[in-house]
Amino acid sequence: MNRTIERVFRGLPQHWVGDGFHVSNYFPGATDFEKRMSPFFLLDYQKPEHYAPSARPRGVGTHPHRGFETVTVAYQGAVAHKDSAGNGGVIGPGEVQWMTAGGGVLHNEFHEGSFSKAGGVLHMIQLWVNLPRKHKLVPAKYQALTNPLIKEATLKGGQGAVRVIAGEFEGVKGAASTFTPVQMLDVRLKAGGTAVFKTPKGYNTALLTLGGKLRANGSEPAADGDFFLFKDDGDEVRVEAVEDSIALFLSGEPIDEPLVHYGPFVMNSRDEINQAVEDYHSGKFGRLDD
Ligand code: MN
Repeated sequence: MNRTIERVFRGLPQHWVGDGFHVSNYFPGATDFEKRMSPFFLLDYQKPEHYAPSARPRGVGTHPHRGFETVTVAYQGAVAHKDSAGNGGVIGPGEVQWMTAGGGVLHNEFHEGSFSKAGGVLHMIQLWVNLPRKHKLVPAKYQALTNPLIKEATLKGGQGAVRVIAGEFEGVKGAASTFTPVQMLDVRLKAGGTAVFKTPKGYNTALLTLGGKLRANGSEPAADGDFFLFKDDGDEVRVEAVEDSIALFLSGEPIDEPLVHYGPFVMNSRDEINQAVEDYHSGKFGRLDD
């Protein structure tokens, strides 16, 4: 049975993250999202936007994170990442950076050098995936999910494909290793194509339209930037493409723990936030130059 649509909405007015990412925030902006989207904590969306050529890459300089994971998906353009654990990488269209901040990391995020020099369209999202208490302080790590690593399920009859970033779809397993059950799917449907996603009971489930026009569980046609949140009253989500479409399907087991958020830290208590701030200022997150 289809899950009922709880609401459909668009993100907040765009704001700048550094000078390289002109994003619209979808959550946690709204009031009860901590519970409704857990284990996902934050979603920022950079809709397709043309950036003029720049010799100095635009982006966001060195900053800390603790207590969760940042997941960046590029659809157009290329994003470079570097962190204080010694990891780094570049992702281009279709690719994903999955960084576990865990106990603490410094990183920076810039437009990749040659993309920056040439200029072009950037289209990407960043998600923050929370970590449960027992994994909040794991050592920082980094998964560069390049295109060859992301397996896809081809839908019958040329209806499109589902690229599995995390979790599983029709027997195809996702490339990312996660700390709690998370399903993250890059959905590419051709006009007239349909995909059906099974959603376990209790999992928070949503869909973000990233291009084209589609219907979810019989909705009116949705366009780029429309976000569906589904109730936990059924076991599937059916997506039908009206035009060639791209969407991000998200589903995950909620982390049922207290949550305290302050800037780049997501912890379980106020004391842990204070500790994070202190550890950051005393240099325990390491060192990183832009
Ligand atoms: Mn960051």
